[in-house]
Amino acid sequence: MRIDKYLADMNLGSRKEVHNLLKSKQVKLNGEIVISPKTQVVEEDKIEVAGKQIAYQALHYFLMNKPKGVLSATEDLYQKTVIDLLKPSDRYRGLAPVGRLDKDTTGLLLITNDGQLNHQLLSPKKHVEKTYEALISGIPTIGTIDEFSSGLILPDGTKLRPAKLKILQVNEEKKLARIEIKIVEGKYHQVKRMFLAVGMKVLELNRLTMGNLTLPLTLKRGEYVEITKDDIVG
Ligand code: URA
Repeated sequence: MRIDKYLADMNLGSRKEVHNLLKSKQVKLNGEIVISPKTQVVEEDKIEVAGKQIAYQALHYFLMNKPKGVLSATEDLYQKTVIDLLKPSDRYRGLAPVGRLDKDTTGLLLITNDGQLNHQLLSPKKHVEKTYEALISGIPTIGTIDEFSSGLILPDGTKLRPAKLKILQVNEEKKLARIEIKIVEGKYHQVKRMFLAVGMKVLELNRLTMGNLTLPLTLKRGEYVEITKDDIVG
């Protein structure tokens, strides 16, 4: 690949900024100064910028604990997005969340510039399991658990795949329940629509797992950690 793309991939600046780095003789390829942005490089080449060696890593994977009030989007004119929560030095080109959590949903969100993996994890054929914890207005019954496990049909006719519902805690007086639900699809507002379909309302929703990934207990809302592809695909 061209050295200007390589350096831009490594988040060393825009193409123009990278061209300036080259022009100002700050880039060395295998010990020799290079100035042409068209210089071809391979991953094994030793590249130094301003005396510092660069380790090439084009693909990045961040596991975030999404806070409320932030959009699962790459950019928005008016509202804060999950990408805005990344440190500027981590804002690699092409980063995008894997699927969407609603603005008021919290918890595990994977952000990557690995488009192929993003696509794979979202593929309806893959049935990647996601676990959510929710506070529900209403108290699910054994009947609700059965309805969910046999594949709920939403009011618009959408037939869902079986979902596992577990009741964690019930407050009879306030008619509230804390539940855990595992689903293998990612339809728009799916968990909220499932509960609405049985006459209940999701008041709080937090994602705990997605495939092999589990939200680390130590990760506070709004914080994130860089992980590897192996952590995701196992
Ligand atoms: N289901 C929802 O309703 N909302 C989310 O954010 C995720 C799953």
